Amino acid sequence: MARYTESVCRQCRREGTKLFLKGERCYTPKCAVDRRAYAPGQHGQSRKKVSEYGLQLREKQKVRRIYGVLEKQFRNYFKEANRLPGITGDNLLQLLEQRLDNVVFRLGFATSRVEGRQLVNHGHFLVNGKKVNIPSYQIQPGDVIEVKEKSKNSPRLKEIKEIAATQNTVAWLERDVESLSGKVVAAPKREDIDMPIEEHLIVELYSR
Ligand code: SF4
Repeated sequence: MARYTESVCRQCRREGTKLFLKGERCYTPKCAVDRRAYAPGQHGQSRKKVSEYGLQLREKQKVRRIYGVLEKQFRNYFKEANRLPGITGDNLLQLLEQRLDNVVFRLGFATSRVEGRQLVNHGHFLVNGKKVNIPSYQIQPGDVIEVKEKSKNSPRLKEIKEIAATQNTVAWLERDVESLSGKVVAAPKREDIDMPIEEHLIVELYSR
């Protein structure tokens, strides 16, 4: 399976913003964006005028990296978003939010989307009672997501449970930390996505 091999903190520095790819570390002073707030590489600190195309490209790369989606897959999400009724940019973000690895993260059952993807890949989650190990699986309103009974005793999931108990989840999800289960009560709306994303730039990029 294709995946990123670049250092994840480098990706944040490239986008000039925290993408929260490393879980707990992202909230500590060890975060690379806090320590070196400039792009990586030899010319990272030089000032460059960014073209309109450059802005659009960076926004697309940023969103792709937030959700950990490769280029071809991201373009397919865009095609689907464009086909669906409604606003393309909103549809795109909704499709990305409804990925199982993201939902696991949003429920607090992983400390980052990267970890969510790994836990899903390793078969720790059930959707509506059936094992699903596909991180891109599209969750729908009404779906119930839970940690497999056997996995609840894993040291990492015990740690995650303690962390989740201290955090809130998002409005479109309901969860029970004690049983490590959650339910999708509605489709995510644009206002539920609290990240600084300018999705119109991505729509403009793909409409060129
Ligand atoms: Fe990004 Fe987290 Fe690394 Fe900070 S610690 S640069 S937010 S991945």
